[in-house]
Amino acid sequence: MIFKAAGSGAEDRPWRPWDADGLPLRDSLRGLSPYGAPQLDVPVRLNTNENPHPPSVGLVDAIGKAAALAATEANRYPDRDAEALRADLAYYLTPDAGFGVHTSQVWAANGSNEILQQLLQAFGGPGRVALGFEPSYSMHRLIALATATEWVAGQRAEDFTLSPAVVADAIARHRPALVFLCSPNNPTGTALPPEVVAAACEAVEATGSGMVVVDEAYAEFRRAGVPSTLTLLPRHPRLVVTRTMSKAFALAGARVGYLAAHPAVVDSLYLVRLPYHLSSFTQAVARTALAHADELLGTVEAVKAQRDRIVRELPALGLRLAPSDANFVFFGRFADQRAVWQSLLDAGVLVRDVGLTGWLRVTAGLPNEVDAFLGALGRTLTGSVIGADGVISLATA
Ligand code: PMP
Repeated sequence: MIFKAAGSGAEDRPWRPWDADGLPLRDSLRGLSPYGAPQLDVPVRLNTNENPHPPSVGLVDAIGKAAALAATEANRYPDRDAEALRADLAYYLTPDAGFGVHTSQVWAANGSNEILQQLLQAFGGPGRVALGFEPSYSMHRLIALATATEWVAGQRAEDFTLSPAVVADAIARHRPALVFLCSPNNPTGTALPPEVVAAACEAVEATGSGMVVVDEAYAEFRRAGVPSTLTLLPRHPRLVVTRTMSKAFALAGARVGYLAAHPAVVDSLYLVRLPYHLSSFTQAVARTALAHADELLGTVEAVKAQRDRIVRELPALGLRLAPSDANFVFFGRFADQRAVWQSLLDAGVLVRDVGLTGWLRVTAGLPNEVDAFLGALGRTLTGSVIGADGVISLATA
């Protein structure tokens, strides 16, 4: 026998020391860090924008029964095209879209990350450019690089807004195969006005190439009166709107993401999806959750109330925030945001340092979790000094 079971120490391992430098890793991947928020075991985890409300006992029971039913046919491959799930998703999207979304306009995959990957596989690749406006969801850039698509980073204004002119200019200059917009944007929480998305669509229409992808992972948390980008679909065939069941639907563990677009876009994705990519269990669980949409989306109002509470409380501590239409709040500015992150962690509260100097992101959790966060932040900031530029230095720094 060549391999023995891995033991606790490196000395037990049957392979010689080796790392990626010795492997024929693609040049574009060398030196990159894998995506991933720390998964630390702390009492209050407000770092990955999850919905803090677990499924109800009734839903857990329904999901169990649906999975058991799927198990009776587990010897068969699942519906390769996930037709029933896509029909349910189309029905779910229709009120936000303001028109009857058709099954042929919807596609589903294992989380919206896989949707983004399939879009890049179909429309990106060597010799092509993907454009995004940072700070934004870093996986747009990482999946672009993983699919050998060149990444061009446009910038948002200092207050994280994005104007139609900035977007249109960048598209005219770089002629991207894909433009990534994120609304509400992660990590800032800011939603894009429809004019910005329309300007992007018109710019790619003018160049006659390229797709505009609007990542709406957090759409259900937007404030009243903020429209969804779905409303623009009938006018813009190059527009793709991606969504997920990981956030508002509180189903991050099930891995279900989806998109709405012109049926021709969906047809293109059949070329790159792996056969039977969405398991029969995933499809069954997602359909069960959609059948309980009212119950699950009921938690959205509770989450928004905690988001709004954070938005109300932080300015009293001298903090600046980006206006949030998501289930998280981006706040700063700190001379040393890492020290604030560490101090909160020491108090048992994990928030997210996305690496943008001066800023941290906190997910709206349960009321007692938000209590813990606000209390720990208040204690961290006791004795801190606010400079003329509004930047906060901790007392101990
Ligand atoms: N888009 C954005 C903006 C996100 O923040 C996330 C999750 N962090 C995703 C997509 C991916 O979510 P999932 O793969 O769970 O659907």
